[in-house]
Amino acid sequence: MIIEKDKNLKGLNTLGLNINTAWYSAPSSVDEIRWLLGNSQFRELPVLIMGSGSNILFTGDFDGLVIHPALKEITITDSDSESVTLRVGAGVDWDDFVAYCTDRGWGGVENLSLIPGCVGASPVQNIGAYGSEVKETIVSVEYIDISTREGFTLTNSECRFGYRDSIFKRELRGATIITFVSFRLALNPLLNFDYSDVAAKLSQISNPSLHDVREAICSIRRAKLPDPEIVRNAGSFFKNPVVTEERAMTLKEANPTLKLFPADPGYIKLPAAWLIEQCGFKGVREGNTGVHQNQALVIVAYKGATGVEILEFAKKIKRAVKTRFDIDIEMEVNVIASS
Ligand SMILES: Cc1cc2nc3c(=O)[nH]c(=O)nc-3n(C[C@H](O)[C@H](O)[C@H](O)COP(=O)(O)OP(=O)(O)OC[C@H]3O[C@@H](n4cnc5c(N)ncnc54)[C@H](O)[C@@H]3O)c2cc1C
Repeated sequence: MIIEKDKNLKGLNTLGLNINTAWYSAPSSVDEIRWLLGNSQFRELPVLIMGSGSNILFTGDFDGLVIHPALKEITITDSDSESVTLRVGAGVDWDDFVAYCTDRGWGGVENLSLIPGCVGASPVQNIGAYGSEVKETIVSVEYIDISTREGFTLTNSECRFGYRDSIFKRELRGATIITFVSFRLALNPLLNFDYSDVAAKLSQISNPSLHDVREAICSIRRAKLPDPEIVRNAGSFFKNPVVTEERAMTLKEANPTLKLFPADPGYIKLPAAWLIEQCGFKGVREGNTGVHQNQALVIVAYKGATGVEILEFAKKIKRAVKTRFDIDIEMEVNVIASS
């Protein structure tokens, strides 16, 4: 296992922020992870776990140890006439895993095609897209406690998944290294292409296959979302706020163009992009940062942008939405303050 000192992370975060970490390592087994955590050189240092850095905003250098779990195994652990269960290493690229499943005709994750990141990060914010969330296929999550180095397994319900939320963003925030995630995939999947964009894309195909759904979603995402390799970004910067039905109806009356989306009973999800656009931020550039011209939810980092600059701009957007609509929009991106 290689341990690098003063490693630059510019190429390892999708915002392309030019920051350094004091130490960096990519252990490829549970034993290597335990060894790193127990090593006297690192034991007292702050630890940050990174997958592909697609949901992280650094506001400065990290004076600690960055661990990128590089466990890459995919093992079939169970199967029956209806499903197959896979135990997947945290370091497997998420979209490679989706392709692996769809190529074999195993359904459940196809709507999450082309989401950047690693499998180990997928339960952290319960990744979701096009009417699907990863919690629908997760059976269990294995992790190592960073302070005790003990291993634990949480069942799906113990992960307390919510909208872009889980126990790993709350009680266990920053305390775990997810090593393996087990998924149950359907052998005869019921395809979900209700989402209007996907339905429109597939309208010419009489009986769409799993592969057709994946292709449609990849093509929609490529057309709609900026590629971080070309325009540096971290995907949706804010979560869609959830408000009471009563509040949503009042807003809708005053703003007929506002679209409402179902949430838990009695609640409605509002599109943060619409709120941001109404506040006049779509396409606006300030210094080396700005809001993407086609996607009001995406904050972009132009050449030379710093994390602090992006964070200040995000706070400005948040304040504007609060002032105009009296709604708090929460950041989806994980802010890593310099240590
Ligand atoms: C262009 C673009 C589009 C996106 N579209 C979507 C989308 O449609 N839906 C969606 O839900 N998200 C989307 N995202 C956000 C992002 O892809 C997901 O949040 C993804 O799961 C992050 O994976 P990562 O490996 O890059 O995690 P990182 O950004 O490296 O880490 C994210 C968080 O998870 C923690 N973490 C990572 N790995 C582990 C681990 N093994 N153990 C414990 N903690 C860990 C980190 O400490 C950090 O807090 C998008 C991002 C981009 C750039």
